[in-house]
Amino acid sequence: MKTLSTLTHLECSICGERHDAEVVQTICTSCGRALVARYDLDAAKRTFTREAIGQRVASMWRYEELMPIREHEHLFSLGEGMTALLPTPRLGELVGASDLWVKDEGSNPTGTFKARGISAALSRAVELGVTEVGMPTAGNAGSATAAYAARAGIAAHVAMPADTPVAMMDEVRTFGASLKLIDGLISDAGAWVAEQSAANGWFPMSTLKEPYRVEGKKTMGLELWEQFDGVLPDAILYPTGGGTGLIGMWKAFDELEAMGLLGSERPRMVVVQSEGCAPIVRAFEAGADRAEPWENAATIAPGIRVPVAFADDLILQAVRASEGDAITVGDDEIRSAILDVTRSEGIDVCPEGAATLAGLRKLIAEQRIDAGSRIVLFNTGTGMKHPELRVTA
Ligand SMILES: *Cc1c(COP(=O)(O)O)cnc(C)c1O
Repeated sequence: MKTLSTLTHLECSICGERHDAEVVQTICTSCGRALVARYDLDAAKRTFTREAIGQRVASMWRYEELMPIREHEHLFSLGEGMTALLPTPRLGELVGASDLWVKDEGSNPTGTFKARGISAALSRAVELGVTEVGMPTAGNAGSATAAYAARAGIAAHVAMPADTPVAMMDEVRTFGASLKLIDGLISDAGAWVAEQSAANGWFPMSTLKEPYRVEGKKTMGLELWEQFDGVLPDAILYPTGGGTGLIGMWKAFDELEAMGLLGSERPRMVVVQSEGCAPIVRAFEAGADRAEPWENAATIAPGIRVPVAFADDLILQAVRASEGDAITVGDDEIRSAILDVTRSEGIDVCPEGAATLAGLRKLIAEQRIDAGSRIVLFNTGTGMKHPELRVTA
């Protein structure tokens, strides 16, 4: 059965060249940059209404018109998305923010928001005939890829740094994907996957080097819009690695506006990175359009241990266009923020999610954010994959 997808084509995010969406694509064949999906938004808005969506499946696939899958039989879902958007008054009081919320992505399949991007990208890849995928990862995208490959009945090959938390390695192996441990970082894993994919015919699914992971992650923006009754928050704090979620939410807001479901108002998009790996913050502060690779990246938050973001320019553009901000936090600040979130609200925060609280504290102290405005922190995953950060005595 056909979905309501209104996907029309792919477009290069930088040079604007049009590409065929009905064949497997990676990056722009003209300029080598990221491709994005385009939809017939005039057609989409006929059926994409708050009332209609409210009646649909409680997963990110309720936004079917704006998703890239054509046939329901190719849609491989484990129930990703429609995560809780939690008011957090006690946490707000602790840091002096009077309208603070947490979007809790820890309840996704395999425990992180990576499920959204992988469900979309892997489903579309299978729809276009792919039977074997390769995935370089800092950890969580590998877990999600292994699970969704099992769900779709295809083979997956995951490469991750050898010092990734063991829970993520165990997930990959348990879900039946092959696992390659790399003596290096996610960027080194990326080089290995690129080489092996070329040699073995795997489809490589590296962040923003294929067009559909961002489509899955944009649903976080659609959910904020739906869950806040059509009114976006004033600021979104996002723990930024490859930036897929930030770029995706920004795209979602533009699509909502084009459909007449939102005005031109936007939340301030705030990048939070670790002091030990902050290429985007450094570029933001320098006023640069692109980010230089970060040397010797190190942090306890693996999801943001990303020394090179392929779509660095798209992240920086969104942050600047939103009059947003970019800030770093230290590992010690992340550790204490984990206890603040868990103990004040019962939310099992991951280190990346905790980093956003630490970032908010600094922004408030430096008066870089309105403490009375509506602020959303993204908890991008569960704390359960991090026994090394648990309190054990
Ligand atoms: C991947 C990941 C991030 C970074 O996400 P991007 O959208 O790639 O910037 C943050 N937190 C966790 C838990 C992750 O797994």
